[in-house]
Amino acid sequence: MKNLFDLTGKVSLVTGGSRGIGLAIAEGLAAHGSDVVIWDVDEERNASAAAQLETYGTRVGAMCINVTDELGVAEGVTEVVEEYGRIDVLVANAGISNAVRSFLDLSIDTFRDVTAVNMEGWFLTVREVLKHMKERADNGDPGGSIIGQSSLQALHGSPGNEHYGATKGAVLAMIKGISVEFGRYGVRANALMPGFIKTEMNKRNHDNVALYEKVIKRMPIGRWGTPEDLVGLAVYLASDAAKYHSGTAIELDGGYSAM
Ligand code: NDP
Repeated sequence: MKNLFDLTGKVSLVTGGSRGIGLAIAEGLAAHGSDVVIWDVDEERNASAAAQLETYGTRVGAMCINVTDELGVAEGVTEVVEEYGRIDVLVANAGISNAVRSFLDLSIDTFRDVTAVNMEGWFLTVREVLKHMKERADNGDPGGSIIGQSSLQALHGSPGNEHYGATKGAVLAMIKGISVEFGRYGVRANALMPGFIKTEMNKRNHDNVALYEKVIKRMPIGRWGTPEDLVGLAVYLASDAAKYHSGTAIELDGGYSAM
């Protein structure tokens, strides 16, 4: 039997791919044979991430694209397709978190900042990639995997971070709809729902010793997650091993939500 997780010949696009979970997933995809393009907003971080990805020997690109920029996203997808020939896998991962003390302190500006990236930017990216996947299917070459970065916070309440949770719930809803609408083009769509993963985004939380320990006490696996913990699932969803897997949201949280 062929290696079901071999991604040779596939082209993957990872947004927010210059660090954290996005970079770990980009590395995992490259390590399994995929060409990988990352999008992120910082030139220097993009360059160092690209250098790291090149060590896996596949074709690698890094583009400075802000997912909230509708024209930039459309041009970016066109450029990737022109340069690499196709996009097989999209990891729509770029996101921000901007928690406040209480829902009552939540300003409309903060609310909009977070929804602009996590929901609108996510939508713009996924829409443009789906246009390409549909066109490819119409030309006799169906297929594709959309991996949407949601969060456990789509389902679990987090005081002062209701706006973030709302955007992650929106990702779940869009993934479900997309899986239904685009299945006929061979496109699969699934969401990842990570729990507590140690990255720059939530540094404030894991630097807080009391909170850090409190999370561990409730964590069946007994530790916070790392970006690398997401890699296996992402590679699986990108691969032919998952060819009948669509429309789901997968919790990856060390068992936290089972308690
Ligand atoms: P990081 O902050 O480490 O990485 C996110 C990356 O996305 C950063 O490089 C960030 O750049 C980039 N980014 C932010 N805004 C944009 C934008 N408008 N366009 C393009 N890129 C952008 O966070 P994580 O790796 O922790 O998070 C990755 C994803 O996983 C996010 O969607 C997050 O919500 C989700 N997630 C994270 C969890 C965790 O515990 N860490 C748990 C559940 C879900 P910059 O920082 O310079 O703005």
